[in-house]
Amino acid sequence: MPVAAALTTCATGSPSLRRERTVSSNLGQNYPYTSESETDRARAVETLVDLREGLEAALTTETTPLDEKARWWVWKCPTSGCSGLLHAAGYAAEKHALFVVCDGPCAKTFLR
Ligand SMILES: [Zn+2]
Repeated sequence: MPVAAALTTCATGSPSLRRERTVSSNLGQNYPYTSESETDRARAVETLVDLREGLEAALTTETTPLDEKARWWVWKCPTSGCSGLLHAAGYAAEKHALFVVCDGPCAKTFLR
């Protein structure tokens, strides 16, 4: 949604962040931004694996494949100044953590 994206931009530098407490607190302030279909998720991750040296190796060694779900959460990248979104790419070797990949300029991976 372009409108939502404009509303949540961090370019204003405003200290009064909108706090919508709709998710459990262990996600911190970085609540899911949106969701995407399995098809979109798979395509996004495939593209990133093609673009980024080492990402495929990291996924192979650090994650196990995702199970089948129709939709996946997408998070906004927490990196300062990065406009990317985080896509689920696998399960971290340690249980209960999702391995997510930023599609923005910071190119980082995170555990959720
Ligand atoms: Zn990022």
